[in-house]
Amino acid sequence: MTEPTHGRQRQAPPFHCPYCAEEDLTPHGDDPDGWHCGACLRTFTVHLTGTGVQRP
Ligand SMILES: [Zn+2]
Repeated sequence: MTEPTHGRQRQAPPFHCPYCAEEDLTPHGDDPDGWHCGACLRTFTVHLTGTGVQRP
């Protein structure tokens, strides 16, 4: 089985919930940045805004 990517890529997932630090994270909804924490039941998005490269 192959899954077409359609140009939407899920970025590297967060390893810990930013609110309770648990690791019980699952993708949430249609938002590729959306995550759901099974420990504190929060849903949130993680959006990468930079890679550490310094801007001029
Ligand atoms: Zn949590």
